[in-house]
Amino acid sequence: MAIVYLNGAFLPLEEARIPVLDRGFIFGDGVYEVIPVYDRRPFRLRHHLDRLQHSLDGIRLANPLGQSEWQTLIGRIVADAEWPDQGIYLQVTRGPAPRDHAFPKVVQPTVFIMATALTTPSAEIVDKGVAAITAADNRWLNCDLKTTSLLANVLLRQLAVDAGCAETILIRDGLLSEGSASNIFMVLDGVVLAPPKSNLILPGITYDVVLELAAAEGQPHAVRPITEAELRSADEVWLTSSTKEITAVVTLDGQAVGSGRPGPVFKRLYGAYQTFKQRVMRGRND
Ligand code: PMP
Repeated sequence: MAIVYLNGAFLPLEEARIPVLDRGFIFGDGVYEVIPVYDRRPFRLRHHLDRLQHSLDGIRLANPLGQSEWQTLIGRIVADAEWPDQGIYLQVTRGPAPRDHAFPKVVQPTVFIMATALTTPSAEIVDKGVAAITAADNRWLNCDLKTTSLLANVLLRQLAVDAGCAETILIRDGLLSEGSASNIFMVLDGVVLAPPKSNLILPGITYDVVLELAAAEGQPHAVRPITEAELRSADEVWLTSSTKEITAVVTLDGQAVGSGRPGPVFKRLYGAYQTFKQRVMRGRND
């Protein structure tokens, strides 16, 4: 039975309980992280914990734990889990309090950590890519915070599922923002393009890795606003996330992207990403 951490205790998932007045349940008043673990080595843990701090600062909730306490707790969950490759899910909410939008005077945050099996893209998805649709980005203006208030993302992602697609790519005011649960890259005339970090997108940990790998590979790349028209004329489109790694998007709203097959720049960066992961697994890098 999977062991999880909840507010100071390690216990089986089935026994983990939170009060119904937890503000995470009542208001979605909390933040979270998803950290990939390869062969029991967390990938870019410090970066995820830094982003957690950014999210907590953004919702004005004091971090209940220090970096080393987080590392110790996550280390124990990783060690106890049955799978070598895991996705660590952690969540901090503003805790239980009588229902009132305003913050409670005394906050007792809820801290939850669990491991799940990590499923990375199958060989077939790497080989063939996935389909995506586009939709208007109707989320709030603090998309850089990884909050558990995910209803807009949930509804947008379901549009993709309803259309038999893998992801919904979001457009705001004529510009590409990101996917409902991923960052988006594109290739135009041999140059990898990514939208800049701002309050309109989540600063993806994988996004950073991909840009670092592009630089290391000598692959031309630029971070700049991308118009919807550019996205629609892209030679390649990719989505990136901790669990989707780099996945090629081969159709957009039913139209082929480029050749309609994962492109050469995708193959190069996907290969570099796998090599980088192998180095992490051998403990030589993160
Ligand atoms: N944007 C959104 C909206 C996401 O939900 C995610 C993944 N959770 C990402 C981007 C990618 O972030 P990361 O690479 O850190 O997984």
